[in-house]
Amino acid sequence: MRTSQEALANYSKVNDLWRSNQLSIRFERSKESVDFNTAKNLIRALWKKEIGVIKFPYKNIKQVTGNRDTWVRRGVVSINCDKGWGDIIHSWSHWLDYRINPNTRPHSAEHSLIELRCTKYFFDKGFLEKSRTANEQPKVKKRINKVAQRYERMLKRQKAWSKKLKLANTNLAKVNKEILKYEKAHSQEKRTTKYLDPLPVKVKEKINWEVKVREWAKANDEFVHDERYWDGYCTISNRYVCIDGNPPYDYDDLARNKTWQQWWYLIQEGLELKKQGKLNQWSMKYK
Ligand SMILES: [Zn+2]
Repeated sequence: MRTSQEALANYSKVNDLWRSNQLSIRFERSKESVDFNTAKNLIRALWKKEIGVIKFPYKNIKQVTGNRDTWVRRGVVSINCDKGWGDIIHSWSHWLDYRINPNTRPHSAEHSLIELRCTKYFFDKGFLEKSRTANEQPKVKKRINKVAQRYERMLKRQKAWSKKLKLANTNLAKVNKEILKYEKAHSQEKRTTKYLDPLPVKVKEKINWEVKVREWAKANDEFVHDERYWDGYCTISNRYVCIDGNPPYDYDDLARNKTWQQWWYLIQEGLELKKQGKLNQWSMKYK
C-alpha cells in the first residue's frame, strides 16, 4: 500500500527536525551517543503523552546493541542506543501507534503524526541536553550495601510486628476480661451447652367476649340484647348495662360505643361494687 501524501509530508518534517539539529535520521549511522537512562525516561514520557490513560505497563527495560531493534517482546522493552535518537523515536512511535491504532497499517497518517509529535517533544523537553549531560559525567555505578539494606528492612518489619503485637495484647486482654465475667455469671453447663430446648410456643387464646357476656347474663338471669336490632341492655339489679347505641337517658355518651370486652369488665366492676353495697358509684365512663 502506498504511503499517503499527508504521511509523507509529516515524515519529511520529522527528518528536517533531526537534520536541523545536526543529528542523524533513522537508517543512517548514528552520529550521537545516547544515554540509556535518558532513553528510558523518554520512552516512559512518550507513552504517558500519547496513551496517558493506561499506566506504563513495562517493568523491564533493557539496553540492546548491534542490529537489534527498539521494540517490546514478551513485556520487555528493548532500547538500542547505538542506532541513535531518530531510530529510537521512530521505532517507539510505531509501537505506540500499534497500541493506539491496532487496525491501521504501519505508515498511516496517524502514525506519521505520532512520530512528528514525539520528535518535537524530544527537542522541546530537552532530552537531547539531558542525554549529553549524562554522557559527560563519569559513570559511577552505585554499589548497594546489602547489609544496610537488609538491616533497614528488618527494622521496618520489627516496627510492623510490634504494632500488631500491641494490638493483639489489647484485644486479648479485652476478651480475657469478658471470659472471666461470663465464668462468674454462668455455670459450666450453661456455658458449654450449645443448643437449648425450644421454647414452648404460646398460643394466645382468643376470647369471645360476646359469648362471655351472654353466658354471664344467662347464668345470672340478666337480660342482654344486641344493639343492632333495638335498644338492648342487660341489667345488674336496679341498674342497666347498655349494649346499644341508644341508652336510657341517665347513661353518658361514652357508654355507647363499648366493645363486648369492655362490657365484660364493666359488668365485673358493677358486680364487685354491688358486693360492697356501692353500686351507686358504678360509672359508665369505664374505658
Ligand atoms: Zn516506520
